[in-house]
Order: sequence, then structure tokens, then C-alpha cells
Amino acid sequence: LENRVAQAQKMEAVGNLAGGIAHDFNNVLTAIIGFSDLLLQTHRPSDPSYKDIKNIQSAANRAANLVAGLLGFSRKQTQQVSVFDINELASEMRAMLKTQVREKIDLRFQAGRDLWYVRADSNQLYQVILNLARNARDAMPDGGKLTIRTQNVTERESQRMSAVAGFTPGEYVLLEISDTGTGMSPEVMAKIFEPFFTTKGIGKGTGLGLASVYGIVKQSGGFIFPESELGKGTTFKIFLPRYVVEDSDEAGAVRPQTMASA
Ligand code: ADP
Repeated sequence: LENRVAQAQKMEAVGNLAGGIAHDFNNVLTAIIGFSDLLLQTHRPSDPSYKDIKNIQSAANRAANLVAGLLGFSRKQTQQVSVFDINELASEMRAMLKTQVREKIDLRFQAGRDLWYVRADSNQLYQVILNLARNARDAMPDGGKLTIRTQNVTERESQRMSAVAGFTPGEYVLLEISDTGTGMSPEVMAKIFEPFFTTKGIGKGTGLGLASVYGIVKQSGGFIFPESELGKGTTFKIFLPRYVVEDSDEAGAVRPQTMASA
């Protein structure tokens, strides 16, 4: 338990640091992208330096993507929250996810019945599912099973989780992504949420996928727990707070579960 607390504090510190760096870096990149845009306007594609400028710009854009990942991790991203059903999001993503996995991978979606609503940024949650699914795919080079599962978790059921540091019991929607891949050692598990931690090698992994997943889940008021066993596979459990939509509301209008407790 102490270990988990220390880990959470470390993530907080790394998050603050990363957020600060990302913010300043963003200004630099905005200048590089902006000025290369200007240069592109005054050069013709036939110009010998046109391609060089293009290259500068695409490198700067790649850097901007990395920075976006860092901002996601440090929770400095602006959110566009709405109330939605994760089952709907997941089924919308189905066709796209199919294009991400190889034929050898059996992609399954187990939708929980009468799933509760969550209030979050659906684009961010899309990124979360995509990042976790890509990692699951990468962990199964010889194929296997990738399962996306959803389920309501009552307050009582959530009590069982309360032994885990930082977890607050309550009503949650559980989103689970599991694979039957390589699994992870405890040493790797301890580092997976840190920005730039990757075992995939230079040019293959950025080490920002799970860092940004972690930041998004935290920013959404939720919790994420990895479970993994070497040679067996990995499961990521994401708990997002339930959002109660009142029946008495007009169609489309929603109200928070509790009024501000100020
Ligand atoms: P990247 O995918 O760029 O390496 P991530 O932050 O998404 O960055 O993941 C960090 C590391 O966590 C990966 O390099 C890998 O070692 C490990 N990892 C993440 N997901 C899984 C998984 N489903 N199975 C096994 N290892 C995983």
C-alpha cells in the first residue's frame, strides 16, 4: 500500500514537471510550425528548399504530437465533457479497431447491459481505448484474444476495491481491456505510466500512450489499475464515475447526480 502511495506521489510530481515542460515547448513549436508555414507560402513546390521546409514542419508536427501526449499526462489538456454511454462509443470504434489488429487477433466486445452513463470527454476516451487496444495488439505478435468489456459497478461491489490506495468507493462504470499477450514483469509494471517509458525500442514506441491514458482517466475523476502476468496476458481496468441522468428531465437535458456541495 505504501508503495502505491509513493507511486501516486511520484506520478503527481512527474506530471507537474512534464506539464511545465510541455507548455513551454509548445510555444517553441508553435513558432517553428508558424514560420515554416510562412516560408511554404513564399516558396514554390519546385523550389529546392521547399522539401526541406516541409521536413522541418513535419518534424515539428511530430514533436507537437509528443507534447500533446505529455499534456494529456499532466492533465493540462482542456476537456470537452459530455454525457454518454461507453457502449455506444465502443461500438462506434469497432470498425476502426478492426483495422488496427491483425487477422490472428480475435477482437471481442462484451457490452454490459443497461450500462450507466459517464460524464467525460468522449474524444479523450476514444484515445484511451485506442491506446490500450494498440498496446494489447503489440503484446500479441502471434495472435490471441483482445477483449473490451464494460460493466456497472455498484457502490457495494466497489468496496472490495477500497483496499487499493487512492480508490474511493462509489458507483462506477468499469471499462476493461484485456489481452492474452506477453504480460509484464513487476519491474515493467511499476513504470508503465511514466512518460517516455517504453520497451518497444527507438522509433517504435514513444512511451506516452499509457502516460496520457493515466492523465485522462485521472482528469475524468476515474481510476486505472493494470493487472498482468508474464506469459498470460494483461488487463487494464478503468473505473469512471457514474453520472445520473434524471428521467424527469426533458429529453437531452441532464443534471449532475449531486448538487455542488459548497
Ligand atoms: P509505448 O506503447 O509507446 O511503448 P506506452 O506508454 O503505451 O508506450 O506503454 C509503455 C510500455 O508498457 C510498453 O512499451 C510495454 O512494455 C508496456 N505495455 C503496455 N501495455 C501492455 C500490454 N497490454 N501488454 C504488455 N506490455 C504492455
